[in-house]
Amino acid sequence: MMRSFAGTVVGHYINGQWGSGQGREVIEVHSPSDGRAVGAVVAGTAEDVNKAVDAASSAFPAWAQTSPAERIRLVERLIIEIERGREALASVLTDEMGSPLAFARAAQVGVAVADLRELVAAARAHDSEWEVSNSLVISEPVGVVAAITPWNFPLHQISLKVGAALLAGCTVVLKPSEIAPLNAAMLAGMFEAAGFPPGVFNVVFGNGESVGDPLVTHPKVDMVTFTGSRNVGERISIRASASIKRVTLELGGKSAAVILDDAHVGDSVSAVLRSAFANTGQTCAALTRVLVPSSLRDVWIKQALDESRKWTPGRPEEESTILGPLASAQQLERVRQHIRRAIQDGAEVVTGGAGMVTGLEDGAFVYPTIFNNVTPQMQLFHEEVFGPVLAITSYETIEEAVALANDSIYGLSGGVFSADDARAIDVARQMRTGTVGINGAGLDVGAPFGGYKQSGNGRECGTLGFEEFLETKSVMGARKP
Ligand code: NAD
Repeated sequence: MMRSFAGTVVGHYINGQWGSGQGREVIEVHSPSDGRAVGAVVAGTAEDVNKAVDAASSAFPAWAQTSPAERIRLVERLIIEIERGREALASVLTDEMGSPLAFARAAQVGVAVADLRELVAAARAHDSEWEVSNSLVISEPVGVVAAITPWNFPLHQISLKVGAALLAGCTVVLKPSEIAPLNAAMLAGMFEAAGFPPGVFNVVFGNGESVGDPLVTHPKVDMVTFTGSRNVGERISIRASASIKRVTLELGGKSAAVILDDAHVGDSVSAVLRSAFANTGQTCAALTRVLVPSSLRDVWIKQALDESRKWTPGRPEEESTILGPLASAQQLERVRQHIRRAIQDGAEVVTGGAGMVTGLEDGAFVYPTIFNNVTPQMQLFHEEVFGPVLAITSYETIEEAVALANDSIYGLSGGVFSADDARAIDVARQMRTGTVGINGAGLDVGAPFGGYKQSGNGRECGTLGFEEFLETKSVMGARKP
């Protein structure tokens, strides 16, 4: 299997055919670690979108009629292809978005496989016809799905959307992020190898304006599933609403970890730093605010400072690296700007800062940064940084901690740390977020994942993630044949 796209231009994958890159405008992809060119994709247009949507629309009736068992069989073959290609996929992710190789292998690719397995289980358990009152109720695929994805866990985000849609009987046009499109190109090759019929899965590369917008406004697209930033999510909702299509959004977050006074300090420090710093902080559900009781504040900060030394930035190709670069030079500038602003607003730097990383100045590296004395008046308390930046706020009472945790336009995730599960669950119930991890429990791809408030709507993963792609028909006066 090809492990690098350097020197190539990848064309779109439409109706089972690879388009040519010749004579086309391209988007070059660069390693954020050292700026090296790692490949290029064709910059798509509205015309490319039309072709892909036509292909998906023509393939839909036959695909919707295939048996669930046949769709499961093909997705299981895809899983085998992904597992076979794990090293190649990991190395492409390392090249294009700077994910440390070991993390790319285990988390980026590993989670995508786990996502697909859970979705297969959900599809297998799904009952597509049932009787109620005087009716036969039938669940059917929504139709043609446009999937628009970001760059931070690209394969995971694609797998959740595309896996669920295809298992439900929908056909798909995927627009992956222009920052990290090469893993999607490799994945399309795996769809081909797995034997999916032409037109069932299509990929159009390009940016948001020239490909994303024509996709979400296309009259033959029945549903848009989007993961990305809050502002683009808002724009997509508005643009897609003209044709009343279904839109599901997975957006940003500013998730709080509530440390209760009986929590194990060392364990909570390790778990919070892992959540805030893994993937160089570019995780939508990262615990980026930590609420510490005043009585534990000094000891918690001291241990956090010690623990932060493990998170030394390094080249992502090295096996021992756990903190790679940010995904792009633009992301580096955004993160440094957030750090400067927090300092201006009066937050106290415990470690890190906006300086370039010594010895790694040629890449998008930043020091892991911890701020103390962060208050709700500061921008850092509210805005998603999407970099390895942790904000500490202390509190006096549990009521105050819950109010601080919920003081956000977002509601994606949260954490509670306590020696007493009942206390932890009681706080979890009061948090207005779609997921809460107790004592550092991380993402569970078998459980529903999604946001409250401005973190989005709908759910991904497992049964609820699969059901997002279904329509429901009531046939009145009928019984199961
Ligand atoms: P982004 O919103 O800039 O881009 C996401 C995708 O939308 C890209 O493919 C982009 O090309 C496309 N896009 C941009 N403008 C568009 C438009 N006008 N119409 C249609 N498509 C358009 O996000 P990003 O910078 O790639 O990713 C980071 C963001 O994603 C963060 O805010 C993060 O929290 C969020 N995110 C959320 C989740 C979740 O599940 N809730 C998961 C990962 C990332």
